[in-house]
Amino acid sequence: MLEVVQLTKRFGGFAAVDRISFRLERGEILGLIGPNGSGKSTTFNVIAGLYAPTEGSIKLDGVEIGGLAPNEVCRRGVARTFQIPRPFRKLTILENATLAAFYGSADRITRAEAERRAHEALELIGLPREPGVGLEGLGAAGLKKLEMARALATRPRLLLADESLGGLDEAEMNQAADMLRRIRDERGITIIWVEHIMGVLMRVIDRAIVLDHGEVIAQGLPTEVAHDPKVVEVYLGTDADAVQQQVRAQEAKSAKTPQEAKVPQGANLREGDSARPH
Ligand code: ADP
Ligand code: MG
Repeated sequence: MLEVVQLTKRFGGFAAVDRISFRLERGEILGLIGPNGSGKSTTFNVIAGLYAPTEGSIKLDGVEIGGLAPNEVCRRGVARTFQIPRPFRKLTILENATLAAFYGSADRITRAEAERRAHEALELIGLPREPGVGLEGLGAAGLKKLEMARALATRPRLLLADESLGGLDEAEMNQAADMLRRIRDERGITIIWVEHIMGVLMRVIDRAIVLDHGEVIAQGLPTEVAHDPKVVEVYLGTDADAVQQQVRAQEAKSAKTPQEAKVPQGANLREGDSARPH
């Protein structure tokens, strides 16, 4: 569905994203992980059209989208959430989602249809759908949910979810992880999930890519990545044992319920995917 080749984004002389390559199969949940400042959000920003790539290519279903404006990328079926939620604070929850549906959908739709799509997204996410409910009651978790509902209201094929768990407690994080899996399972939406809390992420992703200083240092199945010596060194450190244990527990659980263990076709690492010859 998505093919990123040798993608680079420089700010002045500084390469925030440095020749990264990866591909994403339809129906896959891909985890994009790495330490703070490793280039995760910048990768999203370039794919979503906020910045044009300095070099490299981004193909969505074979069509180049690198350098298109954000609204154009969105209309082609790519929605994203922001790490820091960006709602219209003076509008209601329903209005926020309706606006996203109206301006972000691939087709030209009526206001009534936009509201219908907003309802649908809010229901899936579990936010109030009644008109008139404002943002005042939403805490950190609620605002993250609204960010997700606005993205879903555009009816994307590909969802880019940026660090949606920061500021949430453990139970809220697990709920959010389960919700992403539900979005994929029930709506067939392909997902790239950026998150630096690796244990939670490992519960739902099919495959992971690890960035460090803008470069891909590892990619593969969760268990491969969690045991990769370079990933342990630059990223997991003292958390390595805990994360590896979580991955094992998840694998054991999946083995007991084969329907959940289903990895989308073609989700395995392919030869030559790595941006660097490590
Ligand atoms: P992550 O999301 O992995 O924490 P970012 O992609 O936000 O990392 O940032 C990667 C690097 O690029 C950081 O060093 C950050 O300071 C830098 N950066 C991000 N956006 C800009 C920008 N608009 N201008 C200059 N530097 C930026
Ligand atoms: Mg970020």
